[in-house]
Amino acid sequence: MKAVQYREIGKAPEVVTVPDPEAGPGQVVLEVAAAGVCHSDIAVMEWPAEVYGYGFPLTLGHEGVGKVAALGQGVTGLEVGEMVAVYGPQGCGSCAKCAEGKENYCLRAAELGINPPGLGAPGAMAEYMLIDNARHLVPLGDLDPVSAAPLTDAGLTPYHAIKKSLPKLVPGSTAVVIGTGGLGHMAIQILRATTAARVIALDVSKEKLELAAAVGAHETVLSDADATKAVRELTGGLGAEVVLDFVGVGPTVATAAGVVAVEGDLTVVGIGGGTVPVGFGTIPFDVSVSTPYWGSRGELIEVLDLARSGALTVHTETFGIDEAPLAYERLHAGQVRGRAVVLP
Ligand code: NAD
Ligand code: ZN
Ligand code: ZN
Repeated sequence: MKAVQYREIGKAPEVVTVPDPEAGPGQVVLEVAAAGVCHSDIAVMEWPAEVYGYGFPLTLGHEGVGKVAALGQGVTGLEVGEMVAVYGPQGCGSCAKCAEGKENYCLRAAELGINPPGLGAPGAMAEYMLIDNARHLVPLGDLDPVSAAPLTDAGLTPYHAIKKSLPKLVPGSTAVVIGTGGLGHMAIQILRATTAARVIALDVSKEKLELAAAVGAHETVLSDADATKAVRELTGGLGAEVVLDFVGVGPTVATAAGVVAVEGDLTVVGIGGGTVPVGFGTIPFDVSVSTPYWGSRGELIEVLDLARSGALTVHTETFGIDEAPLAYERLHAGQVRGRAVVLP
């Protein structure tokens, strides 16, 4: 089968031919229908050798949906031919966090060497994909596979980040979304669908801000040195109850810290390496800072249900598997509107 692999530090991903996976006992093979292209993959492929720890070759793709192609011995509750979404941040399945469905915060994944598909384990950017356990699969039902693939991360990650802040997103509140790409354009819609908050979107690109407005942002602000002042003005000087940073570089976390309100939530989702100084007097009183990772299995089911209700429109640009390296180039250049999705 064809697979898109990262094969050497600093080299662009390549489309190669590898053996088809086979389902061992308890495992499932999916015929991949769609795989989303996440900016985290670009970060991974920029890591120097001393940071990169996933091994080579790495089949990319941590947002996947597909058709059940084969069931290993003992797998029950799934039918060959059924369409499913893959829950990516897989854990051990039995620690206290996994027992709550929060496999993204598994207490033993590192110790046991469990990695998400595409981020250590072979991912979804291939014609077939091996799933270790049927519990990682959520039925898609009649959801469109191309739109559904990004929901497994670009949808799930903002959903998890926003859900924690729902008590603060009362009518009259403001939510700021910094970076309106794959995750950000979903965050705006999740905020609109689940809260009465006013949404202010920030991005460096005019085209991205147009998308932000199209998917429901009430206000858009260019993310530059004046952004803090502009958001403060839009909020009557008070700032925003919830600030979600989907970039996470120095300048954006500085903006986030500058626009968050007293008792607000400052949530850094982007992995750009920026830091916020935290100490008395450095940020408004009683601000909660968090760095959430992906989401729980239960939350994936909720995101898919939210999409099924018609509340989410995933903007996608599709690429054939041979064009996957181009999809990464375009994402790196900031040229993808919404989410790039590879159709293997
Ligand atoms: P993307 O490239 O689709 O979107 C990023 C957006 O940020 C683009 O629209 C870009 O124009 C904008 N941007 C860049 N610099 C900016 C700035 N200074 N101010 C405002 N906007 C700016 O990326 P994505 O796939 O949506 O991922 C977003 C971030 O989230 C990445 O850092 C990714 O690694 C991270 N991520 C984190 C998790 C997690 O679990 N914490 C999960 C998935 C992705
Ligand atoms: Zn991702
Ligand atoms: Zn666990």
